[in-house]
Amino acid sequence: MADKRWIPETLFDALGFRMTFAVEKVLYELETEHQHLVLFEQKHFGKVLMLDGATQVTTRDEFIYHEMMTHVPILAHGSAREVLVIGGGDCGIAEEVLKHKTVTRLTQVEIDESVVDFSKEHFPEFTGPVFADPRFESVIADGMKYVAETDRRFDVIIVDSTDPQGPGAVLFTREFYAACKRCMAKGGVMVTQNGVPFFQPDELISSVGHFRALFADAGCYVAAIPTYVGGHMAMGWAADDTAPRATPVETIAARYAAAGAFATKYWTPEVHKAAFALPRFIAEAVAAAKA
Ligand code: SAM
Repeated sequence: MADKRWIPETLFDALGFRMTFAVEKVLYELETEHQHLVLFEQKHFGKVLMLDGATQVTTRDEFIYHEMMTHVPILAHGSAREVLVIGGGDCGIAEEVLKHKTVTRLTQVEIDESVVDFSKEHFPEFTGPVFADPRFESVIADGMKYVAETDRRFDVIIVDSTDPQGPGAVLFTREFYAACKRCMAKGGVMVTQNGVPFFQPDELISSVGHFRALFADAGCYVAAIPTYVGGHMAMGWAADDTAPRATPVETIAARYAAAGAFATKYWTPEVHKAAFALPRFIAEAVAAAKA
């Protein structure tokens, strides 16, 4: 192991904490127009993509985040046709969205074309089915500009962004969430990548505070993702109505069956409902979030 290159995640350096990977082989490393991108092969996690020192996706545990960021809002909504993904350039979320036959159009707005191009080469398991699907539309643009200007309306908005640093910082602002509300169809639902509360409590409190000021229903749900280190990952929840979050598990199960009961490795109707039962320290953080 000694002679191996080790690549650290530097996201939590301010906390004096680092997760570090022993690298089998660096497959791709690039300073893009927007951020530093490195993709490497790792013995346990397979391919690992990092942007600006933060782990984005690994082959081994991607299913947890991608399934929970997709099937929860779409099956809670119940008749989602128009879906918008902000960020998500690796297409892992898009691949899950397109498993839903009710979805008639999926628009992905990614700021960094390099991420999409290189994912076509290195994550064909995501990009292959996605770019072959006529319902998919890939837009290269700043998500803030897109939601501020589009005249389209979306049933479900999924913000699969980087952390609030660099190009991703604007995606955690009230201005951005207000623009998302503007292009949300009646009864719409928005979910957001909202960090790891044990290490990033302020990120969640700030977003939920914005949601509380703008939407009828505001909160978050959680899942444990091994390489989003630090325990529970929070996924922000903002909806035009309180009904989607209150959908009974039997209804979620019936909608899943009607959607063809496609294969999942983490999401189940029971896990869907349980994900909103927050541990006390997270529930208290969410409750404390001021509009
Ligand atoms: N799941 C990962 C996570 O939780 O950290 C995120 C994966 S995805 C690769 C994040 C994407 O958001 C990146 O490709 C990045 O380029 C994109 N992004 C960052 N800021 C953006 C912006 N302002 N508009 C659109 N896309 C943005």
